[in-house]
Amino acid sequence: MNRQAAKKLQEFFSAFPGASTSLLMLDYDGTLAGFRVDRFKARPWAQVRDLLDRIQSQKKTRIAVVTGRPAGEIPLMLALDPAPEVWGLHGAERLYPNGRREMEVQTPAVRQALQNLRKRLKRDSLGGLFEDKPNAAVMHWRGRSPEQAREIKRRTQELFEPLAKLSGLRLLEFEAGLELRAGRDKGGAVREIIRESDAGAPVTYLGDDLTDEAAFKAVNEAKAPHLSVLMRRAPRKTAADVWLKPPEELRTFLRMWLEAWDGK
Ligand SMILES: [Mg+2]
Repeated sequence: MNRQAAKKLQEFFSAFPGASTSLLMLDYDGTLAGFRVDRFKARPWAQVRDLLDRIQSQKKTRIAVVTGRPAGEIPLMLALDPAPEVWGLHGAERLYPNGRREMEVQTPAVRQALQNLRKRLKRDSLGGLFEDKPNAAVMHWRGRSPEQAREIKRRTQELFEPLAKLSGLRLLEFEAGLELRAGRDKGGAVREIIRESDAGAPVTYLGDDLTDEAAFKAVNEAKAPHLSVLMRRAPRKTAADVWLKPPEELRTFLRMWLEAWDGK
């Protein structure tokens, strides 16, 4: 960990003795687990599950996973007991630890536009991998050659961009794909979680992808002590306060979290 990151972490954790609870928000893929082309094989990195389990046992931290996946996939992948709170589909869906699920409502025009697009992409997926979500159509090109990826991206943009002009639909670009979607983004989810939490609770968000930038910005606006963390093998231009490299520095971060409460 570089010295500047270490200093920022130290500053952040020094706020814990003055607080009674804390808020730990995490992306899943690329942040807690490595990428797999078959996403159901993306299990958390070694020790990560155990560290989260211990943080949960301290009963000082509200843990929320904020992911692009359907929320229901995360409790199975993470296998925490009790199940964590999960905001799925980049925030459009909310799954409570008790299994209750809430979904943002779509207008009829948005629903119809997505329906037509799904039909079109099920017939011909433009050479990419089409993922059908309740609030979105997603095209992935992870694992394709650079030339193939460029071509899939071009054709996807051609199809998605006119639809993104429709009220209620937006484009969401991520590292190896493009999503046309309705509803809250990760920034909206993070703002909502912070709003529901204790006013002075230290708050953090860990994420790797372009879609996490909205969440970093939402954390940076928090009045409570806060830290936004880009968790990624390579750095990039980001709104996050610090850059950490998974999985080693993720484990370090979670251990510091545990100690910040244990030492109290
Ligand atoms: Mg991710």
